[in-house]
Amino acid sequence: MPTIFAKIIRGEIPADIVYQDDQVTAFRDINPAAPVHVLIVPSKVIATVNDLSESDEALVGHMVSVARKIAADEGVAESGYRLIVNCNQDAGQEVPHLHMHLLGGRPLGPLLGKNSD
Ligand code: 5GP
Repeated sequence: MPTIFAKIIRGEIPADIVYQDDQVTAFRDINPAAPVHVLIVPSKVIATVNDLSESDEALVGHMVSVARKIAADEGVAESGYRLIVNCNQDAGQEVPHLHMHLLGGRPLGPLLGKNSD
């Protein structure tokens, strides 16, 4: 079963795409947690960070480079932004297709919210 992100990359379901090349697609999160909330997703379907291999190092570097470019385009490079990659359930990963969140446009507060235990 293709992930929802694979369908977005292939243009099968709509998304607000802000950047695309042969390795990654970046689009606005459907439920933004900040004024700027973009997801950077590799074309190659990799479920989680745990599934990366050494041969993916250049791809991960490219994801960060694309994030840096988008941050500049979105006007948050100087004010600041956060890059987040969730892995598995304790991190709250919902979509099993590797993705990097780029969040900015307001003070983002502490790194982690309060947990309930
Ligand atoms: P995760 O929790 O897996 O790190 O992040 C998944 C993100 O994907 C969430 O922030 C969620 O709002 C976003 N998302 C889920 N489905 C869709 C969709 O169909 N379109 C877009 N643009 N974002 C989605």
